[in-house]
Amino acid sequence: MDIKYVSTTCPYCGTGCGFNLVVRNGKVFDVAHWQRAPVNGGKLCPKGRYAHEFINSPDRLTKPLIKKDGTFVEATWDEAYDLIAEKFGSYKPDEMACLSSARASNEENYLMQKFARVALKTPHVDHCARLCHASTVAGLAAVFGSGAMTNSIKDITESKCIFILGSNTFEQHPLIARSVIRARGDGAKVIVADPRNTPTARQADLYMPFVSGTDVAILNGLMQEIIKNGWEDREFIKKRTKDFEKLREVVMKDAYSLENVSKISGIPVESLRTAAGWIAQAEVATLIYSMGITQHTVGVDNVKSTANLMMLTGNLGKPGGGVNPLRGQNNVQGACDMGALPNVYSGYQKVTDEATREKMMEAWGVDDIAEGKVGYTVTEMINILADNPGELRCMYIMGENPMLSDPDIQHVEEGLRNLEFLVVQDIFLTETARLADVVLPAACYAEKDGTQTNTERRVQRWRKAQDPPGEAKPDWQILCDLGRRMGYGKQFAFESPEAIFAEVAAVTPSYHGMSYGRLDPDGLHWPCPTAEHPGTAILHREKFAMPDGLGVFSAIEWKPPAEVPDAEYPFVLTTGRVIWQWHTGTMTRRSRSLEKEAPIGWIEINLEDAKALGIRDDEVVRASTRRGSIDIPARVTPEIIRGVMFIPFHYKEHPANMLTHNALDPIAKIPEFKACAVKVEKIVEA
Ligand code: SF4
Repeated sequence: MDIKYVSTTCPYCGTGCGFNLVVRNGKVFDVAHWQRAPVNGGKLCPKGRYAHEFINSPDRLTKPLIKKDGTFVEATWDEAYDLIAEKFGSYKPDEMACLSSARASNEENYLMQKFARVALKTPHVDHCARLCHASTVAGLAAVFGSGAMTNSIKDITESKCIFILGSNTFEQHPLIARSVIRARGDGAKVIVADPRNTPTARQADLYMPFVSGTDVAILNGLMQEIIKNGWEDREFIKKRTKDFEKLREVVMKDAYSLENVSKISGIPVESLRTAAGWIAQAEVATLIYSMGITQHTVGVDNVKSTANLMMLTGNLGKPGGGVNPLRGQNNVQGACDMGALPNVYSGYQKVTDEATREKMMEAWGVDDIAEGKVGYTVTEMINILADNPGELRCMYIMGENPMLSDPDIQHVEEGLRNLEFLVVQDIFLTETARLADVVLPAACYAEKDGTQTNTERRVQRWRKAQDPPGEAKPDWQILCDLGRRMGYGKQFAFESPEAIFAEVAAVTPSYHGMSYGRLDPDGLHWPCPTAEHPGTAILHREKFAMPDGLGVFSAIEWKPPAEVPDAEYPFVLTTGRVIWQWHTGTMTRRSRSLEKEAPIGWIEINLEDAKALGIRDDEVVRASTRRGSIDIPARVTPEIIRGVMFIPFHYKEHPANMLTHNALDPIAKIPEFKACAVKVEKIVEA
């Protein structure tokens, strides 16, 4: 029997764990621990352990499909490419938009934005970072000059106080949670603030349940308490930051006294006081956040406020400190780094800077690319499609499923149905692919080489373990084929992912020093500017990445969510994930071992709220918002704060995003998934 072990990187969360795919007679059939893996040292969470199970699913797409008279018909690659090239060639650049993918490799994301900008000449390219951490990219870049985790995962073990805000780390990034546990074992205090008593909250020394959408008030209150006690790090503030007085003026207002913050957030005054003391007086403290912070109409404000707190206490640029946003998807950091965003080329080089645009044209060997203007974000694309039909007419979506992942999915469907021509490239026939005119079958992570960048900015390898099924091809090959069809043979002449990565390194300053050879065995953290540079695990050690080197304090007032409870919709709805499932379930729901653990959705309701509504545990209830209604089993529990309800968003049978609100943060254009007004009723049989 021919058995081999192929080391690669997990396709699920942004932790970037490594494992071995076990291959027998050319087919992957298991996952085995890879003790040498740099991030996780061989340990895996359930999703990683079973990351082989969907690979050879009978549902995989194996041939291109073209829709004829409303029905998909199998086609050859030539037929599909000819049709796509003809259609893409018939629209004006501003009428076309592309969605790249946080699940695809760096090379593929780089090629998708290059395809959009060079072959289609459209500035409208984005991906699902818009739905998770767009506020991080915008917020941290504005205050530190770099929109990513400031420290490394391993570095969390050095901390003496860990403040986890809006992150269910133990379920969503379990292998990062190990670092939290290790720090706690070495005496660190752990503070968790979350509306739900999650597995993360249950590990805390101090748990602070709070009403979703009150983060800025909480952070301002903590800062007021720190300043009142004289606990701020005056030397750090003086030497490394600016605009402290502006911050001080706001946070010292009566509105942010602990008593007032307690009324707004529901957190007891004593807990707030304790948290402020622990954070400020620890030898070194770190702040970890995730989508509980970012998915709000005030997402950027929330992010800047976390930065305020950590600068105030001098916890940046040193081991065990930092502001550490945990990125969701395996390669959402990389997709952003590669410029699959409407405002930047790779390495966050601005599209509006004419010198950079000229540089990219020269590097790509063309004399014209997309206009130097900021394109549409994915949330803007959907709104334009639904509200101004005819403005955007054609879309190319690679490895994304907005029909389940985006807010207010009736609105999303209305928008996508208004397209004249839709191409979807994926590994399964997703809810979005069903609406397409052409579906292209793609290879999954186990069927191609490439790189991905995890949440701590570490670039690591994927390695091919088996051939794709049927006629499916890696995304990078499809993009090269299409680029050549569109007349850009030289620009898309790549023969391998390694050759694409060499171009990435050449045009991306933070990746300049990287090559496939250098990524073994441990990967490299960006920035890595030269071939001799060891990579950068901790950012901002001496100065921030701003022109004057100073971190910027932001004076931020608390604003309530865009939609607050009222007499008709009296509860706050928040959404999120569970450890057994991933995103829209495309992969995990086809993994037997994961699906059997959490096969259906539910709505979590506080015991007292359920009693008042006459709702029993497990009873199917109707949850409604101003966008729509779903019928869903109730999970009655004391583990969620009164007045707040929670639905996991993985399940097409109980689609949480039928209910969510598409109100956007004005800067990051991220939707407010974490707070809208909902009502829940008993279903009365007619
Ligand atoms: Fe994969 Fe994330 Fe689990 Fe690691 S923690 S095995 S990267 S899902």
